[in-house]
Amino acid sequence: MNPHDFEALLVAPDTTLLQALARLDATAQGVLLVVDPSARLLRTVTDGDLRRATLAGIDGSTALSALPAAAPRTVGLSATLPEVLQCMDEHRIDHVPVIDDDGRVVDLVTRREISRRTYLSSPHLGDDEATLVREAFETNWIAPLGPHVDAFERELAASVGVPHAAATSSGTAALHLGLRLLGVGPGDCVLCSSLTFVASANPIRQLGAVPVFIDSEPDGWNMSPRALSKALAQLQREGVRPKAAVVVNLYGLSADMDQLLALLDAAGVPMLEDAAESLGASLHGRPSGSFGRLGVFSFNGNKIITTSGGGMLVGHDEGMIAHARKLSTQAREPARHYEHVEDGYNYRLSNVLAGIGRGQLRVLRQRVERRREIFAHYARVLSEVPGLRWMHEPPGHHATRWLSAFTLALPQAQRRRDALLDFLERHNVEARPVWKPMHLQPLYAGSRYFPHDPQRDVSRELFEGGVCLPSGSNMDQQQLERVAELVLRGLRTVAGAA
Ligand SMILES: *Cc1c(COP(=O)(O)O)cnc(C)c1O
Repeated sequence: MNPHDFEALLVAPDTTLLQALARLDATAQGVLLVVDPSARLLRTVTDGDLRRATLAGIDGSTALSALPAAAPRTVGLSATLPEVLQCMDEHRIDHVPVIDDDGRVVDLVTRREISRRTYLSSPHLGDDEATLVREAFETNWIAPLGPHVDAFERELAASVGVPHAAATSSGTAALHLGLRLLGVGPGDCVLCSSLTFVASANPIRQLGAVPVFIDSEPDGWNMSPRALSKALAQLQREGVRPKAAVVVNLYGLSADMDQLLALLDAAGVPMLEDAAESLGASLHGRPSGSFGRLGVFSFNGNKIITTSGGGMLVGHDEGMIAHARKLSTQAREPARHYEHVEDGYNYRLSNVLAGIGRGQLRVLRQRVERRREIFAHYARVLSEVPGLRWMHEPPGHHATRWLSAFTLALPQAQRRRDALLDFLERHNVEARPVWKPMHLQPLYAGSRYFPHDPQRDVSRELFEGGVCLPSGSNMDQQQLERVAELVLRGLRTVAGAA
């Protein structure tokens, strides 16, 4: 029996003690829920109840309804995790049934399952990182330069098939440098995917340039070629040539580079590829991050591999990447003294962290495989849920499934999304909405935006109904199966309550 199957915990009052004992054994949750035909909770039955009944000489063929009455302690669908814990502590119980607005029992929270939090995506170290960091300590290369930085740049560049790479203190720093190198400055227009993390857009503003946001396409969720084409045509009519386009590869899936690059090349606009979420993905066998004039990776703690914090700017032009290294180390000129002509930054990755990155790079392939397995498991378990749409993996793509993400169908998608997130949080499971698009952010209020279709704001739909599930490669199989069953149960509850 599936140990996470909630339905298996429900028994009728005419169930015998012996049958209940067998069911308790098979479900292994330590509790059964006695319900009437309309799923109203009559009582709970624990191992202890059955033990006491046996000791009192009650026969195994007796029905559960003959046991001494005991009013169950329950919580409602709006209860938070701290409230559930408080209920457990107050009444010294380890199981709390959850009751919906119609009085039906729809869920059970157990102390054992919530004792460990399941994270959206947490760091997952391999076998070599500690050794490589120790090497940095032993050779006293604790400076923000050193042999690990050089090696990490070489090794990452080789793994994504670009000749040159500059390691930075974050992905955001790499984006900032990338835009500078493409000549972006005050008053320039820069195109940018709207559905993304705010770090894709902020460096545009910080350079004094003006972002113009582009909608997603409905299947792959990345920049819509149709919306981009409309934006380029409109801007051309206005006599504006965008200085650059920040194209994001969301959740481990490359954008449609065939179409996007063709459009941008024709308009003479260089692409800065934000591959912070897509390290390890490919399109037509070509690694993600290698398509743009420049590409950016992030090694933040939640990314597919991490240095705790860090980033990389990659490119095909040696001069540009050398310039990035110079700008990232305060733009010092080659002189004995400190000579400065350009405005620089302190954006270099430290040698200690680069050691972690080298170790992480060695396990990247396994991390991608595990994330894909996690996605496949969710997709299998949730395949029957009506109205649920996964982010696609179109032909030619190999996604990493950095995060397993789906959307709920309209209408009322946002309300059901939030109810599902509350449901999961009550079980100490961290799930998140999909990124809130930049054109809907107060920070970018009033910015120009080109939708996929005049009648259809796709990125808004994806945000309103979108959910990212726990996808960390260090989730064990038991945790994964539990989360998948919880999502299934949560979606049923949410749909039932609609
Ligand atoms: C994480 C992320 C960044 C920023 O990377 P940091 O290393 O956190 O600065 C940029 N763009 C996208 C799409 C990201 O997901």
